[in-house]
Amino acid sequence: MGGRGGGCLNEFMNNPLKIAVASGKGGTGKTTIAVSLALTAAAAGRTVQYLDCDVEEPNGHIFFKPQIHSRFPAMVALPEVIKAQCNGCGDCADICAYNAIAVVRGQVLIFPELCRGCGACSLLCPKDAIVEISRPVGNVEIGVGAGVAFVRGVLSIGQIMTPAVIAAVKGAGGDQEITLLDCPPGTSCAVIEAVRDADAVLLVTEPTPFGLHDLTLAVEMTRALKKPFCVVLNRFDLGDDKTVAYCREENIPIILSIPDDRRIAEAYARGEALTEVLPSYAPVFTDAWERLLAWCERQIPRKKVPVPLDQGKAATS
Ligand code: SF4
Ligand code: SF4
Repeated sequence: MGGRGGGCLNEFMNNPLKIAVASGKGGTGKTTIAVSLALTAAAAGRTVQYLDCDVEEPNGHIFFKPQIHSRFPAMVALPEVIKAQCNGCGDCADICAYNAIAVVRGQVLIFPELCRGCGACSLLCPKDAIVEISRPVGNVEIGVGAGVAFVRGVLSIGQIMTPAVIAAVKGAGGDQEITLLDCPPGTSCAVIEAVRDADAVLLVTEPTPFGLHDLTLAVEMTRALKKPFCVVLNRFDLGDDKTVAYCREENIPIILSIPDDRRIAEAYARGEALTEVLPSYAPVFTDAWERLLAWCERQIPRKKVPVPLDQGKAATS
């Protein structure tokens, strides 16, 4: 493993690294881990951004307390039919994978609550009878807090276009060396949207039967996406040893184990970052961060042209 600031790690870090922090279920401590790693990477001198992709319940701002300097709506294009051009052929209903269109007696019915804004119907309509109308489905906020660039998405009440808001959050990200994506819990299409551009995935779990069940689902999803992944075991001294055994059998590295420490839950409830209010955890996260970087270096193919960020900026200025 390369040491702190070692040559191989520095070379690796010339390529921006995106790490998705995900979990098969809520309540595993995913945000605590994502926030702590972001602060640890920043303390190690990296430029870091934290993207809060848990847009239905974003709470990373509680810990970073960012100064928000810009906001914009997250838009999605929804189909609308120009009746005068429609011949009722039904092609749009056939192509829609989400059953968001039905054609009944030649009349096109659109169900916006099912539509994912994929654009297939307007693309394939033989009469060009479907236009796309942009509508806001949430908001994106950009700022800086605790030395970390911060972006979060907030899904509007009553909206279900979670992936569209997540895509807008990712699009608002900058060119920092390290990106931590705080993903929604579960294995839904929203999680896939958050994870799909990441270089590696950190799966946060706890050693309970439910935790293990949901971890196996998250592992299946991550393998299907062909992403390298490793595990953080939170509250490792609770529950049983089946999760550790599963990781061993599946050859999944456990990069960090955190004990069941009441002070962590109290810090979370107060909106305080773990590594800042419990200094004994700072070296734990520093060691984990270095292990994670070394593991990433082994797992992720180097990008073809590694250009240091400062040189890249100079070349374009
Ligand atoms: S594909 Fe176009 S023309 Fe055919 S029913 Fe749908 S909107 Fe009408
Ligand atoms: S945009 Fe996509 S999801 Fe929405 S109605 Fe058209 S085909 Fe279906």
